[in-house]
Amino acid sequence: MSPEVNQAAAIDDDVIAALDPVTRLPYGVTRYYASLARDDDPSKDPIAAQFIPRAEENFAEPYDTIDPIGDRMYTVAPRLVHHYHDRALVLVNDRCAVYCRHCFRRHFTGSGDGRITDSDLTVIRAYLENHSEVQELLLSGGDPLMLADREFFRVFDALREVRDFLMRVCTRMPVVLPSRITENFARELGRRMPAWVVIHVNHPREITSEFSLAISRLHREGISVANQAVLLRGVNDDAETLEVLFRALVRNGVRPYYLFQGDLAAGTAHFRTSIDRGIEIMRELRLRLSGLALPTYAVDLPDGGGKVPVDSALIRTETDAYILRGPDGREYRYPREYPRLGG
Ligand SMILES: *Cc1c(COP(=O)(O)O)cnc(C)c1O
Ligand code: SF4
Repeated sequence: MSPEVNQAAAIDDDVIAALDPVTRLPYGVTRYYASLARDDDPSKDPIAAQFIPRAEENFAEPYDTIDPIGDRMYTVAPRLVHHYHDRALVLVNDRCAVYCRHCFRRHFTGSGDGRITDSDLTVIRAYLENHSEVQELLLSGGDPLMLADREFFRVFDALREVRDFLMRVCTRMPVVLPSRITENFARELGRRMPAWVVIHVNHPREITSEFSLAISRLHREGISVANQAVLLRGVNDDAETLEVLFRALVRNGVRPYYLFQGDLAAGTAHFRTSIDRGIEIMRELRLRLSGLALPTYAVDLPDGGGKVPVDSALIRTETDAYILRGPDGREYRYPREYPRLGG
């Protein structure tokens, strides 16, 4: 780690102290991830931007909320979000190895809610018993791999006991703490197929030899890996960066699954790129990349409208909003203009 970044990791106490308690997300980074930054100024480095808090996090647009995708509306049991017919999301743990400054699940991440309890699991299992339409479980948080293997697999097995769900483990560990993907973890997960691991890489510099080793450990056990990236202003909002990123992922056997438009989470407005720009970037990428390397550009509609591909959902563009069709057939507005914050 460069000395400059060491200082960066110790960041400005003033910035931390000034963070609004509503939008506040804890500060935390691994030594490994901080070592990938080349500058301690979050406005100048795509890695630093993802872990160093900025004063802009105090800012919320009138339409920004703490629960932008309506998780709460679809919470059917403690820590269980059942929004889509055949899939349900379990919030296993509120902690992360790195607190991504663009995190949209701030109402939960780092909230102090801690890990799932046995009584939560009992209620969740009862719900799942009664909802045979659920075929797939997403284990998320926070990062579920902040739990030790024994604890993680205890939760995994308790849920899997209900029936033979497809399990999707959502984790940023291969990116922020690749050594967490131990041979033991991969072997244990490989014994519990079918399971996918879904990761969160946003920038080509996050693809290192350590990352590749972590992914190959999963592959060796027969586990498939997909990536969800978030379109982030100043980090990856250009076709060149994303082209390099998606090519590198495919070479590592990781399928680029989604590229998400930023959710309307309070404290993240400075990261957002317009949907116009997102569409333009995707158009360029389609000319340059194979279908295998091309993710779906998707947006989670405000007010719990649901996740939709931008291309097929966009109905029209108004002066101040994009109008998109939700899966329920209704029209949803996603705001169009953002003030230019922080240059
Ligand atoms: C995104 C999400 C899913 C998974 O959706 P896919 O399109 O299958 O990736 C499931 N549940 C919730 C609550 C989600 O936000
Ligand atoms: S790892 Fe995921 S849940 Fe944790 S802070 Fe980053 S984006 Fe949020």
